[in-house]
Amino acid sequence: MKDSGLATYKRLLSYVKTDRHLMLVAVIGMVAYAATDTAFAALMKPMIDGSFVNRDPESIRTIPLLILLIFVIRGFGSYLSTYFMARVGWGLIKTIRNEMFAKLIHLPSSIYDQSSSGELISKITYNAERVSEATTNALTIFVRDTLTIIGLVGWMVYLNWRLTLVFFLVTPFLTVIVVYISKYFRSISHGIQQSMGTLTNVIEEVIEGQRVVKIFGGQESEIKKFEAENESNRVLQLSLVKVRAISVPFIQFIVAIALAGIVYLSSSNGETQAVTAGTFMSFIIAMMALFAPLKRLTTVNAEIQKGIAAGQSIFELLEQDSEKDAGHRPLANVEGYLKVTNLKFKYAEHKPLVIDDISFEVKAGQMIALVGQSGSGKSTLVNLITRFYQHQSGSIELDGFEVNELSLQNLRSHIAYVGQEVTLFNDTIANNIAYGALRDATMDDIKKAAKAAFANDFIEKMQDGYQTQVGENGVLLSGGQRQRLAIARAFLKDAPILILDEATSALDTESEREVQAGLEKLFSHRTTLVIAHRLSTIEKADSILVFQDGKIAEQGNHQALLKTNGVYTKLHQMQFKEN
Ligand code: ADP
Ligand code: MG
Repeated sequence: MKDSGLATYKRLLSYVKTDRHLMLVAVIGMVAYAATDTAFAALMKPMIDGSFVNRDPESIRTIPLLILLIFVIRGFGSYLSTYFMARVGWGLIKTIRNEMFAKLIHLPSSIYDQSSSGELISKITYNAERVSEATTNALTIFVRDTLTIIGLVGWMVYLNWRLTLVFFLVTPFLTVIVVYISKYFRSISHGIQQSMGTLTNVIEEVIEGQRVVKIFGGQESEIKKFEAENESNRVLQLSLVKVRAISVPFIQFIVAIALAGIVYLSSSNGETQAVTAGTFMSFIIAMMALFAPLKRLTTVNAEIQKGIAAGQSIFELLEQDSEKDAGHRPLANVEGYLKVTNLKFKYAEHKPLVIDDISFEVKAGQMIALVGQSGSGKSTLVNLITRFYQHQSGSIELDGFEVNELSLQNLRSHIAYVGQEVTLFNDTIANNIAYGALRDATMDDIKKAAKAAFANDFIEKMQDGYQTQVGENGVLLSGGQRQRLAIARAFLKDAPILILDEATSALDTESEREVQAGLEKLFSHRTTLVIAHRLSTIEKADSILVFQDGKIAEQGNHQALLKTNGVYTKLHQMQFKEN
């Protein structure tokens, strides 16, 4: 554990400090609620003795009214405690979610690499709710149930301390059983959750990979996997039911023992004088009313522990360092001169160098291509220029200034990027082109950008034109269409530096041809770094850097590199044969 449980709990409570007045209202409601439990049990005595045994007209008139009054107060108390506690709880969830989302958006890329998206999502959705439940439930249990217990037990002792003693002789047994059972339940529930997770996972994989399953004949093994998991789910669920089915009559029997003892004591000689029918009924009602709050009290620790576990994982996220952003140099107009000197980078301390002492420069407006086998470090290099990752030594200069001296926002405003995977948001085509800082672009500019990217034609053919919704991550568009939207986005940004990381490699040859024309227009008049999958597309580059194991093995233009008959020539020949 990173943090002691108590510290975490205190930190959680500090979130609800500002809502103290709301909590006070809730506590008042709880007190009222707790008081009515005792009042109702207490009312049973005059009711039985007065209204039924003695037929006292006063009791017959007032007791029905008192019953109504008790329930009005109880209802009011219940409303206050439930509603105002919920306000505190949902306020807490909102605050924590906002904080986590704001943190998430500023996390460095390396954190995203380390955690699965499911993990991050469930922190923000599920864990926030767990935490709120724990803090508010625990408070409710503590205040309301403790007060109820005090009231009821007080009343029981007042009625007859000897009978109370009988009841308390059996409570330790009940407590032990309840605690043991809830522990067992928790461990099984955990198993059920896990088994449900695996089950969903198998279903998800089969749905998403249905083509692979079909072609590679995975049906049988998937069915076996599913059936095995389904069976273990059934077994776990049954053992839960079994324990419950055994424990309930068992507990009831222990209560019956207490009841039998109390009935015997109340009706046998010694006590008969003191115990009227009303006292007996009142006592039994109070005893019955005790069970639920007592049971909840045994779960309060588990509740708090759950909250603490969820809280720890939340604070772990909130304490992550945001992207390093210490630079302040304002660079308004950038020429686009890039200089990289003795650059070194590794993804983690104990990992090998991925960028191993690289130096090169790109004059403003030039186009430079990075080629080399997959895994040779090309994407990593451009990720260092955009500062998705932080280089460890050497320097990257933009117009003569180390990129670390700029703010991230400033640096990135000078760069447009088109990658292999196009990210589209669940919005209209127009808003996808004019995304983020470009959101104020005019429709004219958006259209101009789309035309330049050769996207205008297909957009206008769509039913709602630029207002067409693209669906979640653009599922309703083809690969080539998506790619052209990404290019239009880059056109609209009109940044002095353009980075293309295998922008067309996901496309078939025909779509690639459509996209290529748009790209070439985008190249002109700006500094361009192209990572190209197909070498034919970069023959016009001013310079080609050939990457090998994080180093630049060769450098020059297409003609020059072919003449040296080295790595580039080999790569070239391999592709030539393929085509
Ligand atoms: P290329 O773009 O040339 O195919 P990359 O720059 O993507 O190569 O990868 C270079 C090396 O760095 C590879 O060995 C790869 O496994 C490793 N690598 C890439 N991304 C990460 C990452 N996020 N975390 C750790 N290692 C990575
Ligand atoms: Mg790559």
